[in-house]
Amino acid sequence: MTDNKPNAVLIKGGTLIDGTGAAPIKNADVLIEGNSIKSVGNNIQTPAGVEVIAAKGKTIMPGLIDSHIHLWGSVAGGIQEWLTRPLELGLLKAANDAKAMLNAGFTTVKCCGSRNGLHLRNSAAEGTINGVPRIIASGHWICQTFGHGDPHILPTEYVDMRTTKHHSVFTDGLLADGVDECIKATRHALRAGADFVKIHVSGGFTSPLDKVTDVQFNLSEIKAISDTAMQVGKYVTAHYQKSIAALRNAILGGVKTIEHALLTDDKSVEMAMEKDCIFVSTIGVLRRSFENMTENAQLMMESYNRLTKAGATFAMGTDNMGIADTAGKNARELELLTHFCDISTMDAIVMATKNGAKACFMGDQAGTIEAGKLADIILVDGDPLKDITILQNADKIKMVMLEGKVKKQA
Ligand SMILES: [Zn+2]
Repeated sequence: MTDNKPNAVLIKGGTLIDGTGAAPIKNADVLIEGNSIKSVGNNIQTPAGVEVIAAKGKTIMPGLIDSHIHLWGSVAGGIQEWLTRPLELGLLKAANDAKAMLNAGFTTVKCCGSRNGLHLRNSAAEGTINGVPRIIASGHWICQTFGHGDPHILPTEYVDMRTTKHHSVFTDGLLADGVDECIKATRHALRAGADFVKIHVSGGFTSPLDKVTDVQFNLSEIKAISDTAMQVGKYVTAHYQKSIAALRNAILGGVKTIEHALLTDDKSVEMAMEKDCIFVSTIGVLRRSFENMTENAQLMMESYNRLTKAGATFAMGTDNMGIADTAGKNARELELLTHFCDISTMDAIVMATKNGAKACFMGDQAGTIEAGKLADIILVDGDPLKDITILQNADKIKMVMLEGKVKKQA
């Protein structure tokens, strides 16, 4: 190999699950050149000088994608931690959490609110930290006053970045009301380096006073945010829980990915599909509700079954914040999706690969093992189609490759 030639690696003789939903291919080879996949097939000739990674008995898969996390580096979460714990501790733990995710086979994570996401992304780009996934980050989130993300039991000057000199986890949020403020907040988030813009269009479970059924932001405000993001080639991701009116506002307002989606109806799903909106699951965060089959759990289950049946693009998220050392266990969501919903193991894998890449707006670059895509690849000891829970065990993830570079080999 000359110095000019890119590094080449041949992954040889594994069972390939390519992330498209196609049936697995036995005894498959994947040739990687530089940062991307050169060819995929059976019995690829081993070019001279190529490094060979033996995959016999293992499953070759696209790197997993978690389409909804928060790199807060939380320990227990909650308002007291956020008020009293130095931000630096959160950032350091978030770096560790991100490393745990790559170690568990997650090659891309979408951080839906937290400035740490921007810092870690930039730190990896400048080569300071290594061993973290590709991070797609919104940095700030934008919500209305008295909305989800506004901890409204605290004085405004504690929580609104525009009115306080003291940064806290709370000031990751930008409060905006009315079209002009929404445009300004969007530009502020973009100025800080957002890959996409995160907004909240309904209440949320962790909100102190507002309800999950509340409609938040008017259509004109959402449209203003979307238009401002689109002017610079970015898109909007929306937290949405339990109000059809809020969901329709998001769809009509130009939101591209819809998170949580506890409540949907046939009409809104049809509207969303017409506009190529992508939905993102987060069963894990409601796990206790699911164990007790509360009304919310049942609604979410119905909603996720509706999305699957309609053929909507549906990606896997977790809302992982690092609490209780859950970082690296992100694939638990796949077990929950297949256990509680009418979602096959293969469909769940597609949610965490191909559809995840779409939710990160990287559908043409990542998420599947196909020639021309970035070489984000993992080797799994065992067959996740037979037992999806093995993806929760980092020891079973034997190799992790990100853009052609081997980040883990066990
Ligand atoms: Zn979230």
